[in-house]
Amino acid sequence: MTMDWSRIEREFYQCNKCGLCLAACPVGKDLLLEKYTPRGKVQLARFYRNGVIELTKRMKEIFAECLLCGACTVTCPSGVHLADLFVEMRQIIASEKGLHPRVEPAIDAVDEAYNISDEENAERDEWTEDIGDIPLEAYHKERAEVVYFVGCVSSFFPMVQGIPQNVVHILNSADVDFTILGGKEWCCGFPLIGAGAAADIEKLRDHNIEAVREVGAKTVVFSCPSCYRTWREYYRTDLAIFHITELIADLIKQDRIKLGEFRETITYHDPCDLGRHGGVFEPPRTILSSIPGLELKEMEHNRAKSVCCGGGGNLEMVDPALSRRLATKKIKEAQRTGANTLVTACQQCVRTIKGAARREKIDFNVLDITDVVMQCLKPRD
Ligand code: SF4
Ligand code: SF4
Repeated sequence: MTMDWSRIEREFYQCNKCGLCLAACPVGKDLLLEKYTPRGKVQLARFYRNGVIELTKRMKEIFAECLLCGACTVTCPSGVHLADLFVEMRQIIASEKGLHPRVEPAIDAVDEAYNISDEENAERDEWTEDIGDIPLEAYHKERAEVVYFVGCVSSFFPMVQGIPQNVVHILNSADVDFTILGGKEWCCGFPLIGAGAAADIEKLRDHNIEAVREVGAKTVVFSCPSCYRTWREYYRTDLAIFHITELIADLIKQDRIKLGEFRETITYHDPCDLGRHGGVFEPPRTILSSIPGLELKEMEHNRAKSVCCGGGGNLEMVDPALSRRLATKKIKEAQRTGANTLVTACQQCVRTIKGAARREKIDFNVLDITDVVMQCLKPRD
C-alpha cells in the first residue's frame, strides 16, 4: 500500500519526547510500559521506518493495544497527529503481516455478511419486533427525506437494541419524514479502519450511499458516533450528515419535541468519535439542560479531554480484560461527580460501561441519551 511517508516523517520529527501525552493515555497508564504509550509508539514507528526494527508479531500486538481515542493527539503540544499515525501503522502492519487474529473474524463477517455479527443481514431490523405501537410503514418506507442509519451494534446486540427503538419513537413523535434501510443497510466500514483495512471500505461506502439515494433522502442521521464519523471522514458525500443528538437538539429548538421532568443527577460521557473526533460536544448538553429536574455534573475529564470508555479501536476484541479495567475506571470517575447515572450518546459506550458495572457488581446506571429523551418525551399538543 502507498503511504505518505514524507508527511508521517514530519510527524516523527515534530515529537520532542516531552511525555505530556503519557498522562492522557488510558492504555499507557494501565500497562505502564513505554512501548504502550503514545510517545513509545511514535518512536517504534520511527525505528521501523528507519530500518532499525522489523514488523514482528510483537509490533502487531503493541499497536493493537490502543483505543484510537485521540486523547494523545489533543494533548500533544507539538501537534503530532498520533491517532492518525497509529491507524496508518495498523494499515502497514495488516498489509505486511495480516490482520490481528482477534479482529479477523469480525472483518471476515463484514466482508461476507455485511455486518460484524455474521448474522443474516436481512435480520438487521429484528429490533423492530417489540417496538410498540408504531406500524412498520411509519419508519420503513420506499421514499423519505431522512435515512436513519442504525449501525451493526444497535441492530444486533440486544443490550442496546432499545436505542433504535427510542430513535424511531422520537423522530415519529416530531413528525420527521424518515426511514430505516433494513437489510439494505451494510456495515459502514468503521471496524475495518481500526483493523488496518481502511482501503476495503469502498464497496460498503458505494452500496450505502446508493441505498440512501434510492429512497430519495438528502439527509442521513446516526445514533452510532462511529458510523457518523466514518460517513463524515471516509464517504466523501454531499448528503447532509447528523448525529441524532444534533437533530434532537434542533427539534427541541423548533418546539417539535417537548420534554417533561427527569429528576436525576447525572453525568455525561463524551464518546470519542462524537466529541473529540466529531466536535459534537454541545448538542447532547443542550438536550440534557432542556429537561426539567435533571442536574448535570461534569466529570473531571469532559469534552475534548474525555477519557475513552475502553471500547474504542477494536480493543474490546483484542484485549477484553484491559477494556473492562478501563471501563471500570470510567465508572469510578463518573461516581466521583456524585451522580449515580452516566448518560452517553453511543451504543458501544453503553455496552462497555454497563457490561463492566455488571461484572464488577457496581450499582451504577448507564443510559443512552435517547433513553432519557424517550422517558420524558411529552405528547405534542
Ligand atoms: S506529547 Fe507530543 S511531543 Fe510530547 S512525547 Fe507525546 S507525541 Fe511527543
Ligand atoms: S489513541 Fe488513546 S489509547 Fe491510543 S495511544 Fe492515544 S491516548 Fe493512548
